[in-house]
Amino acid sequence: MSQDAKQELERQLKAYVGIEIGPPQEAPEPVNESMIRHWCEAMGDSNPVYVDAEAARRTVHQGIVAPPTMLQGWTLRGIEMADPAKMRPNKQTELHALLSSHGYTSVVATNCDQTYTRYLRPGDRVATTTVIESISEEKATALGIGYFINTRDVYRDQHGEEVGSMLFRVLKFKPAQQPQAASSGDAGAAPPKPTRLRAPRGHDNAWWWDGIAKGELPIQRCKACGVLRHPPRPMCGHCQSTEWDSVPADGGGTVYSYTVLHHPKFPGYDYPLVCAVIELDEGTRIVSNVVGCDPTDVKIGMRVRLSLDEIDDTMTLPMFRPAKT
Ligand code: ZN
Repeated sequence: MSQDAKQELERQLKAYVGIEIGPPQEAPEPVNESMIRHWCEAMGDSNPVYVDAEAARRTVHQGIVAPPTMLQGWTLRGIEMADPAKMRPNKQTELHALLSSHGYTSVVATNCDQTYTRYLRPGDRVATTTVIESISEEKATALGIGYFINTRDVYRDQHGEEVGSMLFRVLKFKPAQQPQAASSGDAGAAPPKPTRLRAPRGHDNAWWWDGIAKGELPIQRCKACGVLRHPPRPMCGHCQSTEWDSVPADGGGTVYSYTVLHHPKFPGYDYPLVCAVIELDEGTRIVSNVVGCDPTDVKIGMRVRLSLDEIDDTMTLPMFRPAKT
């Protein structure tokens, strides 16, 4: 892109900063106990204040409340988000289309910070307004060059009172070129397989990846109460202790739930891709892929075995294969 064209694009981008993307997005249903129960089942959260009306009445809440982390879920649209024709156009989709038309065709979410002002209760009606808070200068990243876009969602109840907010950041970028096979000498050779997205590693989970590199699947264990947890995190959800160690998984497990992905196809993955929640024999669960069999052969309850697979030169991932019977 010429310098002039880039300046013109950045002038157009500036016009989006500080504006609301459209009218408030209203939750299709009021906060309700059914959705709370489904969420808690999916998350494995058995806190009675969310799911047990009798027990919840005896708490400071005096009744069932919604898990604060459901905040975004109340107004988030479902399957229609996959079909642009069904989405009402707004300033955010317009902004993304503008960047796509200049070659910044890919998008990845990079940060999400939520603030909860009060607990939501059954019957509350939530609506959210979204403001495009800022757009960065063009940045070079490992994924490619692009612009970081910050949006601020403010969630309000039926009285117009704020109940929470969310800062959401995405990178809208030009995908970096994959390395091409050398043209001489290997005409007709298959192009090199693109690499998978790297999982973020930080203070709380680098030790886990180190374990994988050493050829084991570590499971974090609370030192105070012994409850196992995955993915790695600093605090025990059961007793709130921050003391922990880990035990190596034996490698046996059962398919607890799964889905077969056909679309969208990300570079570096084989499709159809079986994404499964594996219940390890030790009792905790891990999200992984089932490989080494036809996706139609995968069933809930199927016995699987850990397989630490080298995905490429720098990444080994815990996968699961059908257990030999
Ligand atoms: Zn604990």
